[in-house]
Amino acid sequence: DLTTAGLSAAIAEHAARRPDLVALVCAGRETTFGALHRISCQVANALQAEGLAPGARVGYLGRDSERLYQLLIAAADSGLVLVPLNWRLASTEIEYILRDSECELLFVDAADEPLAAQAMERMERPIGLVRMDRDGVAGAGFTAWHAPYADYRLPTKTSRQQALLQMYTSGTTGHPKGVVIAQQSLFAVREVRDRSSMPWLQPPPDDRCLVLIPGFHIAGLAWAVQGLLDAVTTVILPEYTPPAALAAIRTFDITAVCAVPVMLLLVIAEPGVTPADFAGLRQVAYGGSPIPEDMLNLCMTVYGCEFLQFYGMTETATPITFLPPADHTPGSPRLRSSGTSYADSEILILDKAGNPLPPGEIGEVVVRGPAMMLEYFNRPDATAATLVDGWIHTGDAGRLDEDGYLFICDRLADMIIVGGENVYPAEVENVLVAHPAVREAAVVGAPDDRWGERLHAFVAFHPGQSATPHELMMSIRDKLASFKLPQHIEVLDALPRNASGKILRRTLREPLWQGRDRAVN
Ligand code: ATP
Ligand code: MG
Repeated sequence: DLTTAGLSAAIAEHAARRPDLVALVCAGRETTFGALHRISCQVANALQAEGLAPGARVGYLGRDSERLYQLLIAAADSGLVLVPLNWRLASTEIEYILRDSECELLFVDAADEPLAAQAMERMERPIGLVRMDRDGVAGAGFTAWHAPYADYRLPTKTSRQQALLQMYTSGTTGHPKGVVIAQQSLFAVREVRDRSSMPWLQPPPDDRCLVLIPGFHIAGLAWAVQGLLDAVTTVILPEYTPPAALAAIRTFDITAVCAVPVMLLLVIAEPGVTPADFAGLRQVAYGGSPIPEDMLNLCMTVYGCEFLQFYGMTETATPITFLPPADHTPGSPRLRSSGTSYADSEILILDKAGNPLPPGEIGEVVVRGPAMMLEYFNRPDATAATLVDGWIHTGDAGRLDEDGYLFICDRLADMIIVGGENVYPAEVENVLVAHPAVREAAVVGAPDDRWGERLHAFVAFHPGQSATPHELMMSIRDKLASFKLPQHIEVLDALPRNASGKILRRTLREPLWQGRDRAVN
């Protein structure tokens, strides 16, 4: 029964019906549904032969590849929890996650072996390693590990309600947190889609979707799994680079793309891009971080297809809102929103005391979705603070309009209070970035004896361009209320970003406070 059966049963069914249909394309390798099913069974048997206890954590440190999905399907059958690690992290961060997750077996790409070795140098407890070859080359180490096992699938040992994934948050506001996600979460949005009206989530049978968000983020992994469940072809890249993304769109007759906003912008900035490159696209789905309206308009023009936004977080496992294609009308105020909730997802805007606020007022975005995290691993206190009576407190500041459209303002922790007035850094940053010389900007609160906090801005310029802080100040002063004007504008070569590409305001803020406590909103 596919309504309760897990991932592997769904893949087995597709394999029986259409064994030769290509499920995954990665680095020129094609994996059919037949092969995906067969190898996942072997991998499940090999995993079970490792003798790990139920619920044990198994890490994957490597570029995206079909092996990640084989392991995912196999882990679902074996009662193990897969921990996809971000290979762009520093070795100290990998060490932190390997410890935090209590990882017992690690699958590692040849390219990331030095990183894994460095991370494990300081660890007392040894972690078993399964080496995989460098991406793009057939994974001989991995193949040797699972090939001796039969491709007969042992009876599934788990239910969909059990933990299958432990995904780490991006670490934008603090240490990454290990979010425990049930297998059911991978089915949830699809089930809502099938019984309510979300036709833009239904791919045509001959779809070829390029998922650019990496598999170590829930959005990328879940979008690719959706393709596997829908029996369409999903194309993934070992590593996102703008030229590789453009080449994939050109080579594989891509019909749909799933990306974070900055990826879309970088692809169209590639030399030689023409609208003809995107002529075969039917849809671009984007989300995971804010997108300035100018940038969205530009992307809509160049890609020239249907656009779909989603808003969610690792903790919600699924999107909470969608801004559907019909709302992507140029010039519409709704383009600044992240869309509305749908059947099975709900949004509240709460004040500091936890009372619901009326439309138009800004407060904390608190949400409930069709499948949310089970917990933060080993952190009962953090779990209790975030997951309250089944609602997730997102830490995002936002408002709803009269029609239920959600407008995300910024992170609550980054909100700056100047003499009692709330300032959302994103608003000030967007005005700074509108200056032609400015490539990126970040605004943080600095201590101020009179006003509590004052605004400190950091900017980086486009190559070969510049402006003085005074010129910048003059260009923004009539566009913002006076309490929203930065007291200092500091020029940097580049702003610090985490491995997900999100700007790290906390890194910029810390030196300004020098040990003084900052009240967190
Ligand atoms: P950490 O929780 O470790 O600080 P993070 O919150 O960046 O890191 P993720 O779970 O990857 O980790 O990101 C979720 C956050 O991304 C949301 O809380 C929100 O701030 C932002 N976000 C996601 N989608 C959108 C969107 N469509 N528009 C604006 N912001 C978005
Ligand atoms: Mg977060």
